[in-house]
Amino acid sequence: MPLKEEAQARPAGAKAPAPKFEKLSAVKGMNDILPPESARWEWLEATVRELMARYAYRNIRTPILEHTALFVRGIGEVTDIVEKEMYAFEDRSDKHGQFEHLAMRPENTAGVVRAVAEHNLLYDGPKRLWYTGPMFRREKPQRGRYRQFHQIGAEALGFAGPEVDAELILLASALWKAIGLDDVRLELNSLGQPAERALHRAQLIAHLERHADRLDEDAKRRLHSNPLRILDTKNPAMKEVVEAAPRLIDFLGAESLAHFDGLKAILNANAIGYTVNPRLVRGLDYYNLTVFEFVTDRLGAQGTVCAGGRYDDLIVQIGGKPAPAVGWALGVERVLDLVKEQGAAVPVPAPDAYAVVPDAAAMPVALRTLQQLREAGVRVQMHGATADGLGSFKSQFKKADASGAAHALVFGADELARGEVTVKALRDGGGAQIARPLADVAAWAATLQSPAPQH
Ligand code: ATP
Ligand code: MG
Repeated sequence: MPLKEEAQARPAGAKAPAPKFEKLSAVKGMNDILPPESARWEWLEATVRELMARYAYRNIRTPILEHTALFVRGIGEVTDIVEKEMYAFEDRSDKHGQFEHLAMRPENTAGVVRAVAEHNLLYDGPKRLWYTGPMFRREKPQRGRYRQFHQIGAEALGFAGPEVDAELILLASALWKAIGLDDVRLELNSLGQPAERALHRAQLIAHLERHADRLDEDAKRRLHSNPLRILDTKNPAMKEVVEAAPRLIDFLGAESLAHFDGLKAILNANAIGYTVNPRLVRGLDYYNLTVFEFVTDRLGAQGTVCAGGRYDDLIVQIGGKPAPAVGWALGVERVLDLVKEQGAAVPVPAPDAYAVVPDAAAMPVALRTLQQLREAGVRVQMHGATADGLGSFKSQFKKADASGAAHALVFGADELARGEVTVKALRDGGGAQIARPLADVAAWAATLQSPAPQH
């Protein structure tokens, strides 16, 4: 909206001042991803896409808005996400006065499982799926913690054995290798099955009650609704109580232990290092058996870059037919922060050529030629007029140089009269130039192409 209009009277005939607008900014905790940084995102996405194909995971895209009930049921009512962090609202009512409770997805496992159940995707057997996209949580923004952040996730549905838990961990490990991360370590735990957790729960509550004076408000509230989550606390004052608590892993029966051992045997055979962390419970309610996190010490407090586990009971809670499932999600911002920490440079996608067009009359021929070059796979940047016009020949060359292009294409009047364009080398000393025929662009297009930039 325009700011208050200026009160003073204007002399007759004077030009009205341009209206002033208040500068708008992005929502707190929600970031713009700008070039050149966005090149790093594209590089990660391309690497992930290739890797997912190698492991035969197929892409799924689900809506950002879902019914709030999906997350309440899927993630659990007594979780930070559902209690405090979700962007949930009542949609405008329809003509019957009905409105829907909707939420911006805070994570995507529930959405994927909803889609799988809704479309009966498992009718012809198990499925391996992956996704990427923005997630939303109203958290306190800080390094590695944003209100809009991005996840890449992989989910395998319909598989019951530990080998697919292992496959997912191997897939994540392959990703760290592919993007040059060598100090993410794997923490592993097993949460067993609901009956085993019930046994443990009674003893855990008794232990926590004995130390009631040391519990914070959150813990007191969760003591009877979700005591396992207390083990996931980030409050240092409760560290001692939590460390002395009975360990769920000591309550697991033979089948749960066999699943855990099966997973560990495959990781061992693949030389994947891990530590078993009996206090690892994960923030979401839906996990059973295997849970894991990939963590680093290099990102301060937000050290978990990827987290996942098995969630065999989730699909039933969402109204689908029973099917075991396991998956993980990584935080794109944290992974890229770590890539940067390791000193990797952003690949700058320089064009192969920059078109210098001294006179607007040459534009039709120039753009036709550039179009043919691009069809042949050449990356070409066009010089366009700004509010100050096209600029001098010299200033255009400066821009060509600054673009990082290897070649300048000069569409001058003389060369056009001869039916040619001049190709001038800008790198490696530069200067060398050669005339190319406009009539047969395909014949010389490949001479402009340089190999794709390496990360
Ligand atoms: P944390 O313990 O750091 O809050 P979480 O257990 O809430 O993480 P998950 O729900 O398991 O996280 O999400 C998987 C991954 O997504 C995390 O390991 C992290 O890398 C990333 N992530 C989660 N929340 C955020 C956020 N607010 N901003 C940036 N990345 C996030
Ligand atoms: Mg969290």
